[in-house]
Amino acid sequence: MNSTNELDFLAHSAGALAQLQAGFDQWQRTHFTRRPPEFFALELNGEAGELANLEKKTWKGKTIPAEQFADEAADVLIALMNYANARGVDLESAVATKCAEIARRRNADPSHAP
Ligand SMILES: [Mg+2]
Repeated sequence: MNSTNELDFLAHSAGALAQLQAGFDQWQRTHFTRRPPEFFALELNGEAGELANLEKKTWKGKTIPAEQFADEAADVLIALMNYANARGVDLESAVATKCAEIARRRNADPSHAP
C-alpha cells in the first residue's frame, strides 16, 4: 500500500473534523467562559491523566466500567478541541499534514513494515 492509498480515510472524511471543531468553538463561545490556550493545555493533560489512571487501575487488575473510559476519552477530545480553538490550530489540516509525514517516514524505513 502506498502513502496515497493509506491516507484515503482522510480524504474521504474531508470537512468532518473541521465541522466538529467549528461546532465545539461555537458551543464554547456561547455557553462557557472564554479561556486562553494555556488553560486548555492544562485541562487536556489533566483529562489525559484521568484516562491514564483508569488504564493503570485496569493494568493492576481492577475492573473499570466501559462507560468510565468513554467518559474520560470524551473529556480528552473536548479539551483538545477547546485547546485547538483557543490556540487557532486547524486540527483537520494539522492531522492531515502529520499523517502524511508519518506515512512518508514509515514508507522510507522498511523496518516499519507490518
Ligand atoms: Mg475527566
